[in-house]
Amino acid sequence: MKRITSDIVISGGGVAGLTAAAAFGAAGFSVVIVDPALPVTNAAFEGADLRTTAFLQPAQSFLDDIGLWGRLAEYATPLQVMRIADVSGEGRGARVTADFDAADISDKPFGWNLPNWLLRREMLARLKELPNVEFHAGTGFVSLLPRETEALVMLTGGLQVRAKLVIGADGRHSAVREAAEIDVKTHRYGQKAISFAVTHPSPHDNVSTEIHRSGGPFTFVPLPDHEGEPCSAVVWMEKGAEVNRLMALSDEEFESEALTRSAALYGSLTLATRRMVWPIISQVASALSAPRTALVAEAAHVVPPIGAQGLNMSLNDIATLLDLAREHDLGSRKMLDAYQKARHGDIKLRVNGIDALNRASMSNAPFLQDLRVAGIKALHDAAPVRRGLMKLGLGAS
Ligand SMILES: Cc1cc2nc3c(=O)[nH]c(=O)nc-3n(C[C@H](O)[C@H](O)[C@H](O)COP(=O)(O)OP(=O)(O)OC[C@H]3O[C@@H](n4cnc5c(N)ncnc54)[C@H](O)[C@@H]3O)c2cc1C
Repeated sequence: MKRITSDIVISGGGVAGLTAAAAFGAAGFSVVIVDPALPVTNAAFEGADLRTTAFLQPAQSFLDDIGLWGRLAEYATPLQVMRIADVSGEGRGARVTADFDAADISDKPFGWNLPNWLLRREMLARLKELPNVEFHAGTGFVSLLPRETEALVMLTGGLQVRAKLVIGADGRHSAVREAAEIDVKTHRYGQKAISFAVTHPSPHDNVSTEIHRSGGPFTFVPLPDHEGEPCSAVVWMEKGAEVNRLMALSDEEFESEALTRSAALYGSLTLATRRMVWPIISQVASALSAPRTALVAEAAHVVPPIGAQGLNMSLNDIATLLDLAREHDLGSRKMLDAYQKARHGDIKLRVNGIDALNRASMSNAPFLQDLRVAGIKALHDAAPVRRGLMKLGLGAS
């Protein structure tokens, strides 16, 4: 058995855990970060996370503050306009299209889109520059023993770490959350998301488009050109049985169904990546902290992928925790109570809001579809409401 000491142990080396390690490392804390999985940093490798993440304005400025944005900027595609289209009517053409242009509220784009495998690659490279951060790939969190001034953390392979703060960034089935005996409330929608990238003949013009019909939205998010063709990431949400049917189709059959579902917005669609399936749930932890322990990201909250809120909420968790770590005795009860107070209310509000949007988007009842169309139009046409909504989407409370 080997025992080491560190200010912080982070369980989980997904995008949230890696960001937390970079943030606390850059602030001068010593950090041990562990993950049983080896990070996949190439899209072509098996197990690569082929999703992309749209980082909203506040997330970009946080990534800049902690020394990550400089590595990411050259790969990021700006998102200037968010377009919502409803194609639930008889003819399947768009019944209503509403454009939310970032220029209405800011001189910057809403956000920037980046592939998750690339985020992992650049974040790992950043951690290598920080001598006070140790990444143990292939090592998992097992249990923890909180004490008055520190916690003793047991890891796989017999390694033990004495740390003042343990951060659970180990995803929706968080082992840290379980060890801290924190409950979760989970809602299942019977829905899944297929994520993939496509090329298409028409340019996306940095517009991100959410197309509603029933079963869930079909969302295009701009990417850089692929082999000279305009390219977008797609998240296509449907009921589970429909996703199983779509996944069983050949690439050509799938492309043809995607073309119909997208109302041929950008013309024919050609797959540029594999297709990956993600189950859709809403989940909130009943508390964000326990003695010497804080939960962030999907360990604390999971939302359907609508409005690019998931990881952006997670970066708010990390930024808040970092501010509090600078103000308080690290890992103290006072610091952790302040974290709970600062974040839990906002998280619950956003999870409930996205849950409502997802239910409206899933509906195939004509009455509810009409209401959705009227709602999109009313929200868009009232300029102050539109601007308020855009600011709320970016993270303003
Ligand atoms: C289709 C889709 C599209 C999305 N698009 C967006 C978007 O545009 N914008 C946005 O903000 N969000 C988006 N999200 C949400 C976002 O992808 C997630 O919030 C984010 O990837 C979750 O990151 P995480 O690090 O919390 O969890 P994970 O990526 O699940 O990472 C958890 C890590 O913990 C590790 N782990 C597990 N057990 C242990 C253990 N015992 N010890 C140590 N480590 C452990 C795992 O190996 C894993 O690496 C999307 C989600 C989906 C499904």
